[in-house]
Amino acid sequence: MDSSQGDAPSQQHADTRLVTSGRDTKAQKGFVNPPVVHGSTVLYPTAEDLHAHRGEFQYGRHGTPTTKALQETLMALEGPQCAGVGLAPSGLAAISTTLLSVLKAGDHLLVCDNVYRPSRNFCNGLLVRYGVETTYFDPLIGAGIAALFKSKTRAVLVEAPGSQSFEMPDIRAIADVAHARGALVIDDNTWATPLYHRSLDQGVDISMQAATKYVGGHSDIMFGTISANAKAWPLVAETIRLLGVCAGPDDVFLALRGMRTLSVRLAQHYRSGLDMARWLATRPEVARVLHPALETDPGHAIWKRDFTGASGLFSIVLKPAPQKAVDAMLDAVKLFGMGYSWGGFESLVIPFDCDSYRTATKWSPGGPTLRLHIGLENVDDLKADLDRGFAALKAAM
Ligand SMILES: *Cc1c(COP(=O)(O)O)cnc(C)c1O
Repeated sequence: MDSSQGDAPSQQHADTRLVTSGRDTKAQKGFVNPPVVHGSTVLYPTAEDLHAHRGEFQYGRHGTPTTKALQETLMALEGPQCAGVGLAPSGLAAISTTLLSVLKAGDHLLVCDNVYRPSRNFCNGLLVRYGVETTYFDPLIGAGIAALFKSKTRAVLVEAPGSQSFEMPDIRAIADVAHARGALVIDDNTWATPLYHRSLDQGVDISMQAATKYVGGHSDIMFGTISANAKAWPLVAETIRLLGVCAGPDDVFLALRGMRTLSVRLAQHYRSGLDMARWLATRPEVARVLHPALETDPGHAIWKRDFTGASGLFSIVLKPAPQKAVDAMLDAVKLFGMGYSWGGFESLVIPFDCDSYRTATKWSPGGPTLRLHIGLENVDDLKADLDRGFAALKAAM
């Protein structure tokens, strides 16, 4: 079979589309997967073809059979609003390329106060040098964002939920205001992926992901994707060309391989993550669990309206404890590794402090904060590991 057979892809469920899209069995001489094309030069058969730039592939930077397979699979997952997908060498490169696609000197940008910190650094660093002004806003602003628009406001950058504090902005309300003012909406959709959050269907013009996380899924690649609707895609495509942004072929292949199993991995992260979140909510050491799929979470109504699932990443606020006790807990756990990034098969824990960089809002959690990534280990083993951690916390108080 290939993706041209069976029901029209738009009629298939997302998990089927993840498996069937981007496959061209005949071109792959029967093999299920495309080759990893390491290529720069593409030969043209005749001078006429050369002059006319004729041919499906023209130069390695602009695409290969491997990148085509990944782009088709991502497009099938994003849905009918998606007009094109760009590939970048990291999630941050996907964000910077996206922002450079839509902004020019003199423009104004609105950025949600809970976005990934290096995204802020790009706005406060390079964009300032290029004459773009950024205003940060309260993640819970909703339609109130109208008051922050200026005549030169060109774009709004959101992340739902923010990947440390897990506040859930109302993207639909923000998009309605932005579109009425002629601005584009950019969503960092890394947490839910387009499998659980079809943001292009909900008013977002450009949805990007750090595919380093769940798409790759094995903590072994750096990768970014940029999916855009028909209004925004020409801007993104042109900027990718002008900047020379492209991704390495082995990483493209690994991202595609990750897509094939994304639905089963995410379902497991979702199930175990929510199980752990509920368990942690009953622990005496924990003051709050920040997970939008919990009925008690302030962002739950928006999550329920806009998302079909949750990933394995959430945070907890501990009851007040000295730093040394928290450190004792971190040192006592064995299955939870300490490290940045997430979305791989393994569980992780890191302490964080949003207030050290937020500017529009103060986020005063009232105790030490930890972010957990629930991996694919057995959830009872993970609970036993955290039990060990809590015992060490108490012993060091
Ligand atoms: C990790 C991350 C990024 C950046 O991705 P890299 O591949 O590390 O550059 C962007 N946004 C979010 C929400 C992330 O977690």
